[in-house]
Amino acid sequence: MSSSEPIAYTYEADTHCPYHARLRFGRDARGIISGESVDSEGNAVGAVYEWDDWSEDGLYCGDDLETIRAPYVEPDDGGLAAFTMADGDAITRVLEAR
Ligand SMILES: [Zn+2]
Repeated sequence: MSSSEPIAYTYEADTHCPYHARLRFGRDARGIISGESVDSEGNAVGAVYEWDDWSEDGLYCGDDLETIRAPYVEPDDGGLAAFTMADGDAITRVLEAR
């Protein structure tokens, strides 16, 4: 997977997946949304990258409400670790205490 491309965009006071952002704004020669795009309020379109601080709340597309990235749940010290898959299915696994 190409890690340098945005995983989501922000405009109209919401987060949107790259697919819907491209439908709305088109793409530049590199295949991503132009940094000069502005939304209907005149605000610049923002880009969200894998390494940005989105993990606690997750990322959701404002167009179709699809999950872009589910919230990351930090494993706690009690041996209970919750992993949330990208498709929104939550898997909870109890680790054996040793
Ligand atoms: Zn979308």
